Amino acid sequence: MKIKRNAIRCNKCKDIIESTHRHDFRYCSCQAVAVDGGVDYLRRLGEPADYEDLSAFVEDEVFLWRAGHGVLALHEIDDSHLRNIDLHLRTRNDRTPALWASDQKLRSECITPEMEKRGLEPVDEEIPW
Ligand SMILES: [Zn+2]
Repeated sequence: MKIKRNAIRCNKCKDIIESTHRHDFRYCSCQAVAVDGGVDYLRRLGEPADYEDLSAFVEDEVFLWRAGHGVLALHEIDDSHLRNIDLHLRTRNDRTPALWASDQKLRSECITPEMEKRGLEPVDEEIPW
């Protein structure tokens, strides 16, 4: 699970404050509460009773690539896709998108451009399912 939004609402001044990156430390206007950590971790200052947590999370995205079918998100994959798999594409360490390809030609011609488009990084070993 990774953090999508790191935000709280102060119960005193009603400010909504959001930390958007790791060292983005923000107080509400009455300074009763503060947030920090961005999408890396949730840090709170102040009493829990003084704020409502508005943080949101996303499940790890898992992708699979099959020749001729492009990249599929995990929820799009059914049993027919799991046969004849060429490449795996998934997130690693909770937040680092990663890709592994068995076929170097497919990797260089099809996957590398797709990776670049999606801001993914390659890995050198097969990722077990
Ligand atoms: Zn406040």
